[in-house]
Amino acid sequence: MLVLEMYRSLPRHLAGRVLNGGSSGRNLAGRVSGILSGYTSPLRLVTRDEPAVHRAGWARLRTRLSGICGSDLGALSGSTSLYFSALVSMPFVPGHEVVAELLEDCEDLPAGTRVVVDPVLTCAARGVEACQACTAGRTNRCERITVGHLRPGLQTGFCADTGGGWGQFLEAHRSQLHAVPDGLPDEQAVLTEPTACAVHTAMRAQVPVNARVLVSGAGPVGLLTTLALRSLTPAGEITVVAKHSRQRELARLCGATEVVTPGEVLRRVRRATGAFQVRPAFGSPYLLGGVDVAIDAVGSRHSLESVLHATRAGGRVVLSGMPAAADLSAVWFRELEVTGAYASAQVEEYADGSDQTGQRGAFDLAGELVRGEAVREMARSMASYPLHRWREALDHAGGAGGLGTVKVAFDPRSTR
Ligand SMILES: [Zn+2]
Repeated sequence: MLVLEMYRSLPRHLAGRVLNGGSSGRNLAGRVSGILSGYTSPLRLVTRDEPAVHRAGWARLRTRLSGICGSDLGALSGSTSLYFSALVSMPFVPGHEVVAELLEDCEDLPAGTRVVVDPVLTCAARGVEACQACTAGRTNRCERITVGHLRPGLQTGFCADTGGGWGQFLEAHRSQLHAVPDGLPDEQAVLTEPTACAVHTAMRAQVPVNARVLVSGAGPVGLLTTLALRSLTPAGEITVVAKHSRQRELARLCGATEVVTPGEVLRRVRRATGAFQVRPAFGSPYLLGGVDVAIDAVGSRHSLESVLHATRAGGRVVLSGMPAAADLSAVWFRELEVTGAYASAQVEEYADGSDQTGQRGAFDLAGELVRGEAVREMARSMASYPLHRWREALDHAGGAGGLGTVKVAFDPRSTR
């Protein structure tokens, strides 16, 4: 089968990182061209054997569409923290945002069923006794992601044994599969995984009734998080930071009350909340006062500092993008509650709009959101590429926002 394979060993990858200056900045857009896809790229197009997990509960899938995520671009450009090197096995086929069809029956799901994949490779998928986190349904917190019958890999798309969505075929465990309703286009279905992460982020934000929320970033993560906040939490005003005109339009459609540029954030939040702005001897100004809840949906140093600088004392900051290093003085001095939001869980606690809370899986909640108008509109701004045009695809993904593209995906069935 034809796949894109991440094959580079760590030393070579690090050399690429030095050549590219990859550790100096996290803002991929604008400087990405040729870096991910040039001669130092750790990715290559190869023919290799289909994955051979062949265990009870596992089934073969044919990929229909697989998205390119910011975390994939981070891994390819070498800007991802070495922390994660213990949690992957090489060579792996990337691609954890997947819509595919079953090539054989998988327990209750018949061959031919169109599915989306919850990529986290939990205890159930690894055939080991469930850890505490998995037992509680907090599957994204699984502690067994390096053991069992699979080699290490925190998710499908980072594990050498399962294959990934950037290949023609992969294997997945029944616990990872969610059937896609007939009539839902692949372009919307492939956004289910990022939407599930957005649902999880919205839950981790623990938004108080009528709270003022700031979302920094209007790529797919920021847009879908805005949609999840508006749909599933009692948030009041939601301010979204967007750079590009198409992002601004979509942010409003997702439920933003106002959309601002990165340069306007502090001024607008100050005015809206009656905060004071102060300016340190060096570096950017910050607020005393600000929003109740802020979400970094980018993962750059600039984005993280801007949310730390615009959140009121005692407020909550959620890191939804893979975080960069930043000055944490505000976390200490303003007693911010900083929390991570990684992937999504099979059991999420959500509010239903009144003060009732319930428990449902993130993919279940996401399945409803992706059928709505906002995601339908986002799916219209999707670009898909055959595997052999991977260099173009990655360059496009790196500059997607400015080109009006919401998501770039691979269609491994295409040979165009
Ligand atoms: Zn587990």
